[in-house]
Order: sequence, then structure tokens, then C-alpha cells
Amino acid sequence: MKRRTFFRSATLAAGGAVVAGTAGELVATTRAQAQTGLRINGARINAHLAELSKFGRNPQGGVSRVAYSDADRDGRAYLMQLMRDATLAVSVDTAGNIWGKRPGSQAGLKPIVFGSHIDSVPEGGNYDGDVGTLGAVEVAQTLIEQGVTTRHPLDIVCWQNEEGGLYGSHAATDAVTAQELAGVSVSGKTIRDGIRFLGGDPTRLEESRRRTGDVTCYFELHIEQGGILDKEHLDIGIVEGIVAITRFDVTVAGLANHAGTTAMGDRHDALLSASRFVEAVNRIATATPGRQVATVGRIQAFPGAVNVIPGRVECTLEMRDLDAEKIKRLGAEIRAEAERIGKQNGTTFTFRGSSTDHVASLSDPAMRAHVAAASKALGLSTKLMPSGAGHDAQNMARIGPMGMIFIPSVGGISHSPKEFSTPKDIENGVNVLLHSVLAADRAYKER
Ligand SMILES: [Zn+2]
Repeated sequence: MKRRTFFRSATLAAGGAVVAGTAGELVATTRAQAQTGLRINGARINAHLAELSKFGRNPQGGVSRVAYSDADRDGRAYLMQLMRDATLAVSVDTAGNIWGKRPGSQAGLKPIVFGSHIDSVPEGGNYDGDVGTLGAVEVAQTLIEQGVTTRHPLDIVCWQNEEGGLYGSHAATDAVTAQELAGVSVSGKTIRDGIRFLGGDPTRLEESRRRTGDVTCYFELHIEQGGILDKEHLDIGIVEGIVAITRFDVTVAGLANHAGTTAMGDRHDALLSASRFVEAVNRIATATPGRQVATVGRIQAFPGAVNVIPGRVECTLEMRDLDAEKIKRLGAEIRAEAERIGKQNGTTFTFRGSSTDHVASLSDPAMRAHVAAASKALGLSTKLMPSGAGHDAQNMARIGPMGMIFIPSVGGISHSPKEFSTPKDIENGVNVLLHSVLAADRAYKER
């Protein structure tokens, strides 16, 4: 019997559903063949995105749907209705994350988790987080409609308060401190009150905790938020990992003095040194081969008067790269240069480490291979690339294999109402997510 014929009779016998077999290469092969032609509904996912964009819409055409706002709550209600319409079992965990679950066919296997977030920055756009969340629901709905039951359970997730600091995925993978819960979010509510507002229970966060071995793997589809795919006319980014971030608070100390009476040669101008420092940071980061970035993002001169030579400057230094060792080397080079700059006019630089550092989190090579294979089968071009922005995926990487899929952001714009990804790119990305999930479902046999 030809495999295709076998498959047809097998599916007919099972009432048209593709049933995951218990054993046998033939069944596995036919399962893969049967799944090859599956496609998500591009018109539907784009319509859902347009519908979600109404919650928290701002005058510029994007959304201001910050976590714990009424718009956030209403958008979440819409998402939960979509999940119910797709016949997923919907729940909100004690951390305030939304889950839409579908059982698998094989007992004892841990879920394949995929999703993203729908909260936004103030004056944000309609794609950051939304594409990955609604795309995950679309994948589940497609499988359900086509009668495809995966071996693993599927857990579709919408993490709460991603933009404010990855709080939902943090609570799902690590202990949350009282200090973190007391922090005030952009909405004005504390994290603790915000979790309650979304239907969670901040006194029982431990119940939402997942540990290594609790999930088979995690996928997240997201817009690139940079301009590489758009510029190079590529379809899909296969994320190598989420970069490490190292931050310093920098103080430049000089001497404040009269701007009219102090001769140019007698000045200890802290702002002049800081300006040379800003230039040096850019020069060193650019001259070093690789994809690292370094930024002075905030700067303030004191006393800040028109007729006073600045005696002190407070600024920041931020460096990002996948390789933490490289950041260390770059940091050492920048500090040495700062010392040299300071000596030129009798000023001093002090660097204090910041508490907002992040370690790099690499995607799993097998997960990258699933995304690559799915893209190739769909005829889509790909590029292996780091994510310069933080994502919930970096928390999930702590407890299991993580894979991320990027689609192009037109003009590289994000966190703005101008953020845009084309309907076709969205459709492509969701199809890649679908086939990556199916590939992982076939590949992970024992967990
Ligand atoms: Zn995002």
C-alpha cells in the first residue's frame, strides 16, 4: 500500500482526524506528510489583529494598552473569547497570565507552550506582542478545524505586563520578590494590585510556577522590532538568542565655575568630558567587529545653568550582545578610554553597575532547526539573528528549549503607532509557527 493510501484509510477510519499513532515509522512519516499541506487562515488572523487594535486605540492609530489598564483588561477579554471560540480551555493563572489549553493524544507528555503578550507601551503599535498571541490562537484553531491532534498538549499563553518588565513570564518561571510586587507600573497600579485586577492572586504566585521539565518547549512569534529583515528583503528571522544587557550609571566629576571669568585652559568641564565620552562609546562599539550595540541614553549636567561650567554630569551606558564576555571586554575598553578623556581636563569618571542587567538567553539549536525546516518547507527565506529587545522567551528559556520566530517590521519601527508588518508577513510567520510546533510535536518523543 502506498503511504498516501494508507494515510487516507487511516484518517477515514478515525473519522477524518489525523490521530497520533503510538508506534511505527510509517505512522510517523504519514503524519508528517499529512501535516505538510496545512495552512493557517491569513485573512482571519489579520482580521483578529484589526479587531484587537480597537482596545486602547490612540489618536495616532496605534494603541495605548498598558498593562493593568481598562483597555488591557478589555483586550484580554476579547482574546479569551477568541480562545473559547476555538474551543480551547481558558484559564487565568494566579500570576494573571491567560492560558488556552488543548489536550494531546499521548498520555504523560508535557505541553508545547507558545504565545506572547498583548499589553503595549504608552502610544504603542498594533503588532508588538499581538502577532504572536493571536497567531498562537490561530495555530490552535487551524489544528482543531483540520482535525489534527498533536501528541503533546498545546498551551497557548498570553503573558501579562511584558512591556513593564516581563512580569507574567517572570512569575511563571521564578520567585517574585515583595519589592517587585510593590513596584508601580505605568498604569499607576502596583504590580500586586495589577495582578489582582487581571484576575490573579499575588499571594499564591507559587501555584503558577513552572519548572525545568514542566514544559516540552516554548515558541514565540514576534515582530523583529529592527530593520534587518525589511532591509534585506527576508521573510523570517530565526532568533539565535536574546542579548545580554549590561548597564552602568556614570558620573563625571569636574569643577563648577564661572563661565565668564574662567579661562578656557583652566576649566574642568564635566560636560565636555561627557561629550567626548558619548563619542568614544559610539566609536569603540562601531570599530569592534560584530553586532554589539552601545548607547548613552540619558545625560544630565549640573548645576545646569547657562553661565556655569558644568561641575558634574550624570549619564548612563548600556551595552548589548549575545556574548557576555564580549560586553565585558568592550566595557573595559570604554572605561580605559573614559579615564584618558578625563585626564585631558582634570575630570574623573566613576562607573556604578546597574540592577537592570540581563544575562543572554540562547535559543535551543533543535528549536532553531524546527523553525528553519518549517520556513524552508514553506518556501520562505530566513536569517539567523539575535534579538536586541527583551522578550518573555528569555524567561521561558530558563526552564526548557526556547525558539523564537521574527517577521519583518517595516522600516524597523516599533513601540510606535507607525509600527507595521504586512498581512502577508504575518500570515507567513503564523504558518512557520504552526509547522514549528508540529515539528517539535514529532521530534520530542519522551517528554
Ligand atoms: Zn513584545
